[in-house]
Amino acid sequence: MQRNSIIKIAFLGFCSLLIGCASQTKQKKEEVERPNILVIMCDDLGYADVGFNGSTDIITPNLDKLAKGGTILKAGYVTHPFCGPSRAGFMTGRYPHAIASQFNLPPNTEGVFLDKGIPRSEIFMSKVLKDAGYHTGAIGKWHLGITDEYHPNARGFDDFYGFLAGGHNYFPEQYRAAYQKQKANGNKAIFEYLHPLQHNGQEVSETEYITDGFSREAVRFINESAQTEKPFFLYLGYNAPHTPLEAKPEDMAMFPAIEDEHRRTYAGMVYAVDRGVKRVVDALKENKQFENTLIVFLSDNGGKVSKGANNYPLREGKGSTCEGGYRVPMFFHWPKQIQGGSIYEYPVSALDFYPTFARLAQATIPTGKILDGKDIWDDFSAHKNARAGEYIFAMRHRTGYSDVGVRKDQWKALRIQQEPWKLYNINEDLGETKDVSALHPKVLKELVAQAEVWSTTHQQPQWWHDKQTSIEWKEMEMPHFEKTFKID
Ligand code: CA
Repeated sequence: MQRNSIIKIAFLGFCSLLIGCASQTKQKKEEVERPNILVIMCDDLGYADVGFNGSTDIITPNLDKLAKGGTILKAGYVTHPFCGPSRAGFMTGRYPHAIASQFNLPPNTEGVFLDKGIPRSEIFMSKVLKDAGYHTGAIGKWHLGITDEYHPNARGFDDFYGFLAGGHNYFPEQYRAAYQKQKANGNKAIFEYLHPLQHNGQEVSETEYITDGFSREAVRFINESAQTEKPFFLYLGYNAPHTPLEAKPEDMAMFPAIEDEHRRTYAGMVYAVDRGVKRVVDALKENKQFENTLIVFLSDNGGKVSKGANNYPLREGKGSTCEGGYRVPMFFHWPKQIQGGSIYEYPVSALDFYPTFARLAQATIPTGKILDGKDIWDDFSAHKNARAGEYIFAMRHRTGYSDVGVRKDQWKALRIQQEPWKLYNINEDLGETKDVSALHPKVLKELVAQAEVWSTTHQQPQWWHDKQTSIEWKEMEMPHFEKTFKID
């Protein structure tokens, strides 16, 4: 069967050579009909911090326009309530715990583990799309490894503009001055948030507020892609509104009614993203690519409440296995295929993007590649539950114990802070306030049992976000799953 296919492909290839120009034109046309895929990922953006999810104080007119012209996903989950593991899950289509990437890569100041990154054995979605003929770009935050073998250019991205670390300061004139001062003082581990940005491995001297710089580079990438006749995959990873809270005065001035300084700065940072999204949309329109671009918007994890974010009506935020930690603002926009004005209330995982994008791109998933998510496109398009009866897990390791969230259909099992397991009907109780485990003990038992099965796929972490955590992990003989999955 496989051999026949190979012969068939070879034969078709031979024919297209013979037929020449006419066929070539047709082939190009077919290629163009595959969508461009633009992922706009914010960093630590709260569930309620965009107009399309009900924000009343922060305005995001351009994001709202796209959201309303597409489908708003109300139950979009990422794979972890922290940046690095969430991005690892997104790029590989695997739970970060299963690929030993369940902690953030540590910042460089401790000078440890810096040669680590997401295992090379995991082929990124960017590589699969590149191999399928896509022009691929990553702009903004990476956080998946900083040495050459883990660099975006080594993981399927033709073009990378941004920074490799877990965060960055926003004003070039300020961070450059701090960086140069420390360099002059002989500091060998200058905090990574201050390092120069780079373009394909070469340091660049950014001149704009970096959110604006990333929007500018996204426009450049879209313009350049239009010259290649290939469809594109662009991962636009704004680090806004992640700390440090730094906004342009004119963006903050949009929010005079917000009294809290943190919240007003945060609002300005979100507004800068929204302004940038308008530039990106305009570039798509100018290149006549807007109609056939699938735009997926999301945050990498929940908003940090202590730093100005609002995840209402979800409970808690960044770092939590309550809904506020890993259920994020999300929409899909694609004029050619998605009718505007709809809401998709069924659960979707960021794990599903890899197989779904591959399908839309007519890409081949490498033999042996394990994917923890699924192609949701048919069900999503038909407005059916793509994940009926299926599980979505979250786990965060703390000092000596783990927090866990398990979702299936209307049920959410939750264990946090070593408290007993609780069960919520998440469709009726979005804020996880009414424990119904006493009414549905069998449901709780089943969800916890499934999470325990899932935990057997986990690997020992390859790194921890700091040295202290690595010491505690070993001293406390983590992960203690037997304790985690015990129902009291
Ligand atoms: Ca984040």
